Amino acid sequence: MSVPTATATDAMATPFAILWEEGRSKAVKGATPLALVADLDVIWKAPPKLQLSGFGDYIAKITAIPDLELAYMLGRERNYNELAVLMAQQFAEQLIFMADGIPGKDPETWETYVLFLALDGMLMSMCNTTRIAAGSEHLFAYALDEVSNTKLSHGESVGLGTALLAPLHGIEREWILEALSVVGLPTNFSEVGVSKEEVVKALTIAHKMRDWYTILGDKGLSEEAAGRLARGMF
Ligand SMILES: [Zn+2]
Repeated sequence: MSVPTATATDAMATPFAILWEEGRSKAVKGATPLALVADLDVIWKAPPKLQLSGFGDYIAKITAIPDLELAYMLGRERNYNELAVLMAQQFAEQLIFMADGIPGKDPETWETYVLFLALDGMLMSMCNTTRIAAGSEHLFAYALDEVSNTKLSHGESVGLGTALLAPLHGIEREWILEALSVVGLPTNFSEVGVSKEEVVKALTIAHKMRDWYTILGDKGLSEEAAGRLARGMF
């Protein structure tokens, strides 16, 4: 049974456990919880950063799903489930549509928010991979952890990473930044004390963070390409 006391990530009811080995985290398959008890009165007492971060983690699907589809189509990922992908896309759209109810503590929005975070466990089970909820934006967030002393939470850096990497998939960045801003999450790297050099460095090594094929390709981004992509995020 899982009893989340914060909504900082979408990992509250997944069949994967994040274990650390030699300073690097990896997802290890475990069991899906049989039940989840989430009490909003408890969750709302968590520090605001930990309440909001889950939204940044959740919208990773905007880039994670095209990354997964790309990898699957190229034969670089075996695990894929069309129904799970359709559901994930719809859930993400709906949560973004309801985003203003999150900082406003609208109970109906929060029930959906917690439910969707919890359902990521089900989507990952259906897909047999965490990749339905984590792609190049997560690789970037892991890389940023390695190259900077950022105090960003997982969801904050993943949310920024989603906006940062979206243009590589031909997805507009502005509406993602708008959604992050509505919720009260950071929308540029300067405001959280991360330099352009650190972002560029993280982008160039992100592809090495996991054995996942994503839009970053096998060779990753050159410094020049990373600099171009990072423009407008400061
Ligand atoms: Zn995540």
